[in-house]
Amino acid sequence: MTQVHDHGGGVHSLRVPIPDNPLGHTLVYVVDTDRGPVLVDTGWDDPASWNALAEGLTACGTSVADLYGVIVTHHHPDHHGLSGRVREASGAWIAMHAADTAVVRRTREARPGQWLSYMAAKLAAAGAPEEHLAPLRTARPRALPGLSPALPDREIVPGDLLDLPGRRLRAVWTPGHTPGHVCLHLEEDHPAGLPGRGRLFSGDHLLPEITPHIGLYEDPDDTSVTDPLGDYLDSLERVGRLAPAEVLPAHQHGFTDAPARVRQLLLHHEERLNGLLALLSQPLTPWQLAERMEWNRPWQDIPCGSRNIAVSEAEAHLRRLVGLGRAEAVAGSDPVTYVAAS
Ligand SMILES: [Zn+2]
Ligand SMILES: [Zn+2]
Repeated sequence: MTQVHDHGGGVHSLRVPIPDNPLGHTLVYVVDTDRGPVLVDTGWDDPASWNALAEGLTACGTSVADLYGVIVTHHHPDHHGLSGRVREASGAWIAMHAADTAVVRRTREARPGQWLSYMAAKLAAAGAPEEHLAPLRTARPRALPGLSPALPDREIVPGDLLDLPGRRLRAVWTPGHTPGHVCLHLEEDHPAGLPGRGRLFSGDHLLPEITPHIGLYEDPDDTSVTDPLGDYLDSLERVGRLAPAEVLPAHQHGFTDAPARVRQLLLHHEERLNGLLALLSQPLTPWQLAERMEWNRPWQDIPCGSRNIAVSEAEAHLRRLVGLGRAEAVAGSDPVTYVAAS
C-alpha cells in the first residue's frame, strides 16, 4: 500500500520506493490545479515504484491519466526516473531547469564507453591509484538503466510562476546539488495558518536530517571552473531568506523553521572546510584528501563507485577553498596537489 499524506490546501505526498537504497523512498508531491493534478518529481524508474505512484494517485481520488504536468526539481533518477512513463500515460508536460535538461541531453547522446573513459581520465587527474583505474579502463561498455532519461518539453525559468492554473507556484533556482536544481515556492497562505511565507518544495536542496551530496558538475565538454559548493551555499542562503512556513522535501519528512536548518547546514560546511584546511597542511591530491576526510564509514570499506562520488565531493570542497583564497594548487605538481594558503 502506498502511503499517502494529505498536507492540506490541495497538496498530497506519495511515498514512492527507491529499490535497494538506504533513503528508502522519494516523496512525490501532488498539487491540485484547475486543469488537473501536477506532480513535483516522479520517482525511480522501476515497476514497483510505478505501481506505488499509480496506487497513490488513486488513493488521492485521481489517476495517472488525469495528470496535467510534471515539475522536476533535478535530473537525478529518484526524481526524474518515471517522468517519461507518466508523460506517455497522460500527455502531461515535463518541466526542468535548462542546466539539468542539458545534463539529460548529454546522457542520452553519450556513446557507450564515452562515460567510462571520461571518468578514468578525471580520476587519474585527481590522483586515483592504478588499481582503482584499471577496472574502469577494461570495463565493457553496456547500456545502464537510467541512461535514457526523458527529455523535458518545458523550461523552468527562475523567478517565473509555473503553469499551474488556479495556483501560485514560483521557481527558485538553487544550483549546487545539480547545476539546474530548483525549489518550488507555493506562495499561498499555509493551510494550517503556520507563520511564514507559504510552502517550499525543496527537492534534495534542503532536507531535515541529511546533507545532500555536493560534487563537481560532471560535464566533459565544459572547461570552465565551476564552484558547486559555492553555488550550494549561496542557494541555501537564498532559501533561508524566503522563510517559508513549511518545507516539503523530496526525502524524509516535512519541517518548519527553514532559516534554522539553513544556519545548521552553513555551519556544518564551514566546519568541514576548516577540517579540510587542517589536512592540507601538507600537499594532497583530491584522492588523498578524500582518503583522509570523514565519511560514514572507513575509507577501506567504501566501494569503488562510492569512492568516485567521495573524490568528486573532495574536489568540490577544494574548488571552494581555492575560490576563497584559502588553499592553492602546488605549481608543477602532477597529478595536481593542493595545500593550505600560507
Ligand atoms: Zn539528488
Ligand atoms: Zn534524491
